[in-house]
Amino acid sequence: ALERYASIRDTTCVTACGTRVVLTMNAGLMADLPSLDSSGAEGVGLFRTELQFLVRNQMPRRNELAAIYARVLDAAHGKRVVFRTLDIGSDKVLPYMKPNDEPNPALGWRAIRVGLDKPGVLRMQLQALLRAANGRPLSIMFPFIAQLEEYRAARAEMDKAVSREARLGHALPETVEIGAMLETPSLAYAPKRFFQEVDFVSIGGNDLKQFFFAADRENERVRRRYDTLNTSFLSFVERVVERCQETDTPLSFCGEDAGRPIEALCFAAIGLRALSMRPASIGPVKHLLMRTRLDEVRKVICDARHRGEQSVRAAVMEYLRSVE
Ligand code: PEP
Ligand code: MG
Repeated sequence: ALERYASIRDTTCVTACGTRVVLTMNAGLMADLPSLDSSGAEGVGLFRTELQFLVRNQMPRRNELAAIYARVLDAAHGKRVVFRTLDIGSDKVLPYMKPNDEPNPALGWRAIRVGLDKPGVLRMQLQALLRAANGRPLSIMFPFIAQLEEYRAARAEMDKAVSREARLGHALPETVEIGAMLETPSLAYAPKRFFQEVDFVSIGGNDLKQFFFAADRENERVRRRYDTLNTSFLSFVERVVERCQETDTPLSFCGEDAGRPIEALCFAAIGLRALSMRPASIGPVKHLLMRTRLDEVRKVICDARHRGEQSVRAAVMEYLRSVE
């Protein structure tokens, strides 16, 4: 199997019915970057920036972060890297930050909520990213955006950071794109303006699924209870696809489920055209997508839905067996 994946490593992913699907990898460390070439990922769809903050016993300095981000961009050799701003708070407590005592940390003061209420760290991180890009394209996404105004406020911080860098005479990125992670169901029903204003949307499936089913992703007793291929969840993701299509907003899916071949196939069948996953999943996902017709899978999904099945998994597996 490994040889099979190696042989398609440098082939772009096109399904058996001719649909192009972009496959990127998730990363969080400089040490992950060599996987870009070895996995055949087309870029980094999610760079989690928490680790550089967690491994220290004091807040990293702006210049230190800028140097790390610059090395990440160097190592990507021009492939797109999407930096996700700090997703911290509640359960992921920085050793040098006063812990919060919250009854429901996953629903608490975390991610962009912290970034907007105490903008010092967010501003420092945005400056570091701008300096790291230094004439190159820069892609940033904000975690845990639940409503339009949060996206606007976060984007305003970025606009301020850009003006400040320009005023100081620093080189600006060649281009800047600013996306939002869709991790709360509320964002799927944001005003159309949200989808028009955002440069791209990325579904954070781990959190989205947790909130959709009200099932703690860290709780072993409940976390496997609801299938990702549950028809309700797939219908919801499909709604997000449609809303993005209405406004031509680029959409990707970057939760762990994107790296599971059957899940990835179903996401592509309902209209996702970009998936980001751990590097080791790129080969298996690409292999399955390249030999499968999405139009047929889509029909299998629709039929299973009409029959009232709770999950489309059995029907899709049966279809795949039938075309082996
Ligand atoms: C997600 O929630 O799906 C996601 C990609 O972010 P994280 O797993 O870092 O919360
Ligand atoms: Mg998340």
